[in-house]
Amino acid sequence: MRNTDITIVGAGSAGLTLALLLAPLNLNIVVLEQGKAPDISPVNYQRVSALNLASKRLLSHLGAWPAIAKTAAAYQDMQVWDSDSFAKIAFNAETEQVEALGWICDNEQIRQALYQQLKQHNNVSCQFNCVINSLVQSDREVLINFNQQQLLLSRLVVGADGINSLVRKAAQLPQMHSHYNQHALVATIKTELPHQATARQVFLPGGPLALLPLADPHLCSIVWSVPSADVPAKLALAENEFNQALSAASQSVLGVLSLQSPVRNFELQMRYASQWLEQRIVLVADAAHSVHPLAGQGMNLGLMDVAALAQLIEQQLQAGKDITELRMLRQYERWRKAEAVNLIAAMEAFNRTFSNKNPLLKLIRAIGMNTVDKAPWLKKQIMAAALGNSGDLPELAKP
Ligand SMILES: Cc1cc2nc3c(=O)[nH]c(=O)nc-3n(C[C@H](O)[C@H](O)[C@H](O)COP(=O)(O)OP(=O)(O)OC[C@H]3O[C@@H](n4cnc5c(N)ncnc54)[C@H](O)[C@@H]3O)c2cc1C
Repeated sequence: MRNTDITIVGAGSAGLTLALLLAPLNLNIVVLEQGKAPDISPVNYQRVSALNLASKRLLSHLGAWPAIAKTAAAYQDMQVWDSDSFAKIAFNAETEQVEALGWICDNEQIRQALYQQLKQHNNVSCQFNCVINSLVQSDREVLINFNQQQLLLSRLVVGADGINSLVRKAAQLPQMHSHYNQHALVATIKTELPHQATARQVFLPGGPLALLPLADPHLCSIVWSVPSADVPAKLALAENEFNQALSAASQSVLGVLSLQSPVRNFELQMRYASQWLEQRIVLVADAAHSVHPLAGQGMNLGLMDVAALAQLIEQQLQAGKDITELRMLRQYERWRKAEAVNLIAAMEAFNRTFSNKNPLLKLIRAIGMNTVDKAPWLKKQIMAAALGNSGDLPELAKP
């Protein structure tokens, strides 16, 4: 039997960031991950995330940013438009007086950079290829049985184990979910015209198509949200047919588009745990909430969760208090639920408005989008939120 202060289940971006944030606090930390250790193979952009300034500040503080930045692509411009009307909106880094509007980063490179930093801390141990057999909580500790016979007794367990969180299920924390009835098709594509460090998103009747610029001026990662019923037909297309359909969907904004990788698909669901903690168990990031990727905010939100939790734990220690105190954990839950609910509501409204075919609604959204585009103050507010320069940010993520 092994004892530990904090066990983090899940070594995704959230779990590893939390471990690194807590590492200097002289706590005994164990990370349990079902998959293998982060890969040191060259970048392949299979999964990418648009990180904002708040996430960059946090990852820079942790010393992980320089390694992430090596394969990340900064984008200076963003263009969003509606395929069905005259509606469009554009953002520019210079106008916003920021170094970039965001960075398209490879998810595995983020994990790798965090893991390399984590290896320097002897008080953190990471257990990969780990199968959790049971997780039982009591008032005083949580007992985890993993890899059949290994026992771990923890004062606090953090569920950072993604959308199908075992920790959430074991603690019987209730979750709401709604289907967007969409799947995201994700792939790397080559563009005929250079992307010019611009992130583009077109709202189509079936869902948005994002063209996210990578480091090579002719490579983008796509996130194409399509009605779930259309997925089998889309995946059955021959490569040249898929390329034609994709180029047409993008309205040829970057000329002819051609696949450079297999197409992966992800079911899109809004999930939200209405309770994030129970006795000595607490949820963070996708284990607590997942949102539509249309605004590229899911990982940013999760990173802010773990920064908030680590900040409150550090304050507890400085005050000589218990790191499992319910009052502190509730403070975390209130703080981060408010931020998650705001984002979920905005994404729901956006997705519903743009996938609605009602002509009157189409006209209203077109007028609304163009009005915002011409209102500098309003645009600044929207951008400040997307950049992570506003809202109730944890200290390490503040501008
Ligand atoms: C198509 C798509 C595009 C997206 N684009 C963006 C974007 O541009 N910007 C953005 O900010 N966000 C984006 N997101 C969201 C982002 O990918 C997620 O929010 C983020 O990866 C969640 O990180 P996480 O660490 O919470 O979960 P995960 O990355 O899912 O990590 C969870 C970890 O827990 C492990 N695990 C699971 N169960 C167990 C278990 N029982 N025992 C041990 N380990 C376990 C898993 O193996 C995994 O390593 C996108 C999402 C999708 C689907």
